[in-house]
Amino acid sequence: MDRARHSDVVVLGAGVSGIYQIKRLVDLGIDAVVLEGEDDLGGTWYRNRYPGCRFDSESYTYGYSFSKEVLDEWHWKERFSSQPENLRYLNFVVDKFDLRRHMRFGSRVERMAWDDSARHWHLRLSDGSSHTARFVITSLGPLSAPTLPSYDGMDAFEGEAFHTFFWPAEPVALEGRRVGVIGTGATGIQVIAEIADKAAELKVFQRRPNWSTPLNNSPISDAEMDEIRGRYDEIFANCAASPGGFEHVPQWGFWDKTATERRAFWDELYSQSGFAILAANFAEIFFDETANRELSDYIADRIRGRVDDPAVAEKLIPTDHGFGLQRLPLETHYFEAYNRPNVELVDLRETPIEHFTRTGIQTSGAHYDLDLIVYATGFDAITGAYDRVEILGVDGTSLAERWRDGPSTYLGVLSHGFPNLFMVAGPQSVSGSTNFPRAIETGVDWVTDLVAYAFENGHSRVEAELGAEQEWVNEVIRAHERMLFRRSKGWFTGYNSNVAGHQEGSVRYQAYFGGAPRYRAKVDAIAADGYEGIQLG
Ligand code: NAP
Repeated sequence: MDRARHSDVVVLGAGVSGIYQIKRLVDLGIDAVVLEGEDDLGGTWYRNRYPGCRFDSESYTYGYSFSKEVLDEWHWKERFSSQPENLRYLNFVVDKFDLRRHMRFGSRVERMAWDDSARHWHLRLSDGSSHTARFVITSLGPLSAPTLPSYDGMDAFEGEAFHTFFWPAEPVALEGRRVGVIGTGATGIQVIAEIADKAAELKVFQRRPNWSTPLNNSPISDAEMDEIRGRYDEIFANCAASPGGFEHVPQWGFWDKTATERRAFWDELYSQSGFAILAANFAEIFFDETANRELSDYIADRIRGRVDDPAVAEKLIPTDHGFGLQRLPLETHYFEAYNRPNVELVDLRETPIEHFTRTGIQTSGAHYDLDLIVYATGFDAITGAYDRVEILGVDGTSLAERWRDGPSTYLGVLSHGFPNLFMVAGPQSVSGSTNFPRAIETGVDWVTDLVAYAFENGHSRVEAELGAEQEWVNEVIRAHERMLFRRSKGWFTGYNSNVAGHQEGSVRYQAYFGGAPRYRAKVDAIAADGYEGIQLG
């Protein structure tokens, strides 16, 4: 007999979004529980324990804004806080509001099916138990489905090997060991820079190089933290007004300056911290190929100035996409790592990996003996976490099937045919393209209001109208097509060489690039209008 537990609302995932989501629901007195597959809370900051893992948003723009007490009590120690500290922060917030008792860990949902007559979701968990819920809110995270390459012989390797997402909690010995890192995205760049002086030998297996600029991290003193606390209202107002959810704001005016003035401006931005070089730059760099090329040339010169061997420098400079047209990794002494005698860049475009062996990696040029292989090979971004749960909507329609060629959502929150399923930071919302917590607060608040509205007005079935959804998808496509990155190969555009249907040539409109203020104005207007485009039954 199926002895399913029931909650009015089930939240999937106890990461940054799930924590805030359960807080809002509990405050409203709604019967809700978080189901989390991992053994503890924290989501991305629980899992990604690799050396060098840290924010690349300023810590004080990343933290939650909803509680004055949290803002007053928490002291960020670094401008770009590291993973252990970020996990402590999330635990601090959860403990402060006693939210842990609303979370069930080790509870991975494998399948959820909509029952249209009962008007609830039926969830099956990996431990065999079941749960029913009137509403399901997914807080699955955009980068929570790691992907591995599929080279011949990977299983034959007898050394240690793992994806960065599964970097063990217990210390991993690097001293005296020969380490190979595959992948030079934001993760690879952080881990390479951090372990270059620790491993005996470090081989970096790079396919396509990425642009990267200095993070310029620094400690935050007590006095500076006091100043930040006094400025929190202003900080969050600035973030709310900017397209990317940061304090940095892009300015039009590239063509109003001379080339010399532009270089002076970029010198200044290059020495600033975080995403300033991207988000406080001329807006034209995202739309105008000539502007983007000039900036790319500038950054290329910076790389040449930091890498001793000119041949290695050229290999580290992207030639297939302009600066900022894939998600920009930020770095700390990354380029200088290649000046070390124990670090070697293996260019996989010149000498591709042929297969793995018991003792290492064979490329077309050489065999590399390794003790540890680190896969920094990225994620099936934004929709991957949804594909990994079997989600069956009205008439048993599979969400993965419906989204096979790319997601289709209304506002990044609902998908037609899947009633009472609300996605926080979902596909085609603004969260994939902006400072994540700023966007999730928008998402959580909006979803919470919708759930409260449904309860207050006795609506037991909430579904996006197909026409409204199609209009939103068109708006997502229009915003995407305006930007230069539409032609680049990164997770923004759904590219992942290791996932069928996401490879070269396929474009998936996975995130809304119209900017956070425009997104917020849109969703707020829809709520104010009695949830236009949503069927409430
Ligand atoms: P990623 O940007 O997708 O990079 C994956 C890397 O692995 C790429 O260099 C890719 O090369 C390489 N790769 C994949 N499959 C390969 C294969 N079969 N053979 C050789 N190389 C292969 O993934 P990520 O670095 O994990 O970053 C993902 C996102 O996570 C970031 O963009 C960022 O949004 C987020 N992140 C954030 C932070 C932070 O906030 N501080 C830190 C880390 C990550 P190709 O380009 O040639 O495919």
